[in-house]
Amino acid sequence: MNTLRDLYIDELKDLWSAEKQLIKAIPKMAKAANDPELSKAFTTHLRQTEQQVKRLEQIFEELGESPRGKKCVGMEGLIEEGSELIKERPDPEVLDAGLIMKAQHIEHYEIAGYGTVRTYAQLLGADRQAQLLQQTLDEEGQTDKLLTQLAESSINIEAATAEDDEEEEETSRGARSKRGEREVSRRTTVEGGRGGARGGSRGRSGGRARETESTAR
Ligand code: FE
Ligand code: FE
Repeated sequence: MNTLRDLYIDELKDLWSAEKQLIKAIPKMAKAANDPELSKAFTTHLRQTEQQVKRLEQIFEELGESPRGKKCVGMEGLIEEGSELIKERPDPEVLDAGLIMKAQHIEHYEIAGYGTVRTYAQLLGADRQAQLLQQTLDEEGQTDKLLTQLAESSINIEAATAEDDEEEEETSRGARSKRGEREVSRRTTVEGGRGGARGGSRGRSGGRARETESTAR
């Protein structure tokens, strides 16, 4: 690896591997999502991702190179984090908020990669390739914005409200915990983790959670 062109091709291979992994992973996220709009956003982005793979393959053809030979371990890790979240079986509203978080990590990772190769293509005088990469970069950016909108307009709020409802149920059952413990438990839930502190509330959504887990395999 001695030239900017080498670095360009290396990163394009990484992105091709990342997109191919996403074509397998996004349908699992769409299935796991409880909010129909979130599920639709994932499915729409799957269609875009298929086009993004084609754009990369067009670029490889122009370059006379193969897209194969690299595994994007960064994307592998991000996808694994999404699978782990689904396996945790959070309550549906919390799962949706968490899926958005994981998906935004994925989009930002792609945005970093596509922004870089777009700039390399410009420097190398490959204007047509720069245009194709810009098109993908725009799609990743739009997807990121849509996810923010879904989170801020409803899904994060529903996740926060679901937590409040649980606390009221617990209080009425007399299972009041110390305020400090509750604060910690709220934070871990919002972060998508479940330290076992709230394990008793799982029954409410157990059926759906089991269903999503089995589809995740
Ligand atoms: Fe993509
Ligand atoms: Fe994407």
